[in-house]
Amino acid sequence: MTASPTIDPPFLEVRGLKKNFGGFVALKDIDLKVPRGKFVCFLGPSGCGKTTLLRAIAGLDPQDEGTILIGGRDVSHAPPSDRDFGIVFQSYALFPNLTVAKNVGYGLVNRARPRREIEERVNDLLALVGLPDQGSKFPGQLSGGQQQRIALARALATSPGLLLLDEPLSALDAKVRIRLRAEMRTLQQRLRVTTIMVTHDQEEALAMADRIVVMNHGVIEQVGTPEEIYRRPATPFVADFVGHMTFLDAVVTGPRSVKVGSLDFVVAEDAGAPVGAAVRLALRPEAVQTRGVAPDALNRFEAKVGGLSFLGAFCRAHLTPVAGGSAPIAADISANAMRDLGISEGEVRAVAFPPEALRVFADARP
Ligand code: ATP
Repeated sequence: MTASPTIDPPFLEVRGLKKNFGGFVALKDIDLKVPRGKFVCFLGPSGCGKTTLLRAIAGLDPQDEGTILIGGRDVSHAPPSDRDFGIVFQSYALFPNLTVAKNVGYGLVNRARPRREIEERVNDLLALVGLPDQGSKFPGQLSGGQQQRIALARALATSPGLLLLDEPLSALDAKVRIRLRAEMRTLQQRLRVTTIMVTHDQEEALAMADRIVVMNHGVIEQVGTPEEIYRRPATPFVADFVGHMTFLDAVVTGPRSVKVGSLDFVVAEDAGAPVGAAVRLALRPEAVQTRGVAPDALNRFEAKVGGLSFLGAFCRAHLTPVAGGSAPIAADISANAMRDLGISEGEVRAVAFPPEALRVFADARP
């Protein structure tokens, strides 16, 4: 008999979590496992319940029903102070009348740690977040990005098992946000602290997370690595929310084939619906090949180029199949290809995409 593989228990587990505000259902029935040491993003549109879930985990807004385990301990009804987490908010939430050092050391003072130990820890944390020698300043004397680093240092001061980040980068300008993204990720990997970050920014989630939890209307639509979420979205909602996608109405014509208008396409996955059934196809713009298309390429068709928009490194075009019966299909054309080929509006080109680029959704609309 072979030994069964060891499966590490999750560090955080949420079971059957429900939360209503009056008659409004904010969390429907959430089950979630977060492995130890991972960086997890809750991603979804405004109002989908991300912050409500984070605050329930923290015990700041307790759930109506359900169980929360942190480090194997049932904390469902424990006060926030007994849940072993550090938290960073979008608004920094530093104490304006305390120095940076006092802000960072706040949790340690509360735990009555010796003064010398607090001083050393604060200095270490300030160095860790790249702000040594700033301890005697007040928060108002620092930039937004620096204040958020201080908030991070404060959240890490007591070495919590869990780090909760509620849109920590949203209030910062684009450049600072991108730099802090990388810094926070590096720090998290160094400390190996289990981290949950709420964001509505898909790019941020793709760039930072080990796992993304995509939420919509109080339910989890999909949990996966950034690559899984992007390449194999489980639902039309996820396909639509993460990255750009063209959706096409199609009819199943065989186990691996569909028809869009008068165009026949081959799909790599089983359509999951009987012949004759209406399905939706989803196709990423970067999967559409616009140059060097072989005459016998699969899923090749002639299309009229329209709606060219310059997006920096590439141009997005809208390709309308000449054969008709299909909505325009978005295609990204690299700036180099645009220059080499001199693609222009109104021209007709042969284009194609590989079968595995098509996702087939047997039901539902985004
Ligand atoms: P955002 O990105 O805008 O913060 P979110 O996904 O974090 O969105 P939540 O803050 O979790 O969304 O809110 C989920 C839903 O619950 C929203 O429709 C919100 O209006 C509602 N809600 C949140 N807090 C309360 C409250 N205290 N009272 C009433 N309704 C609330």
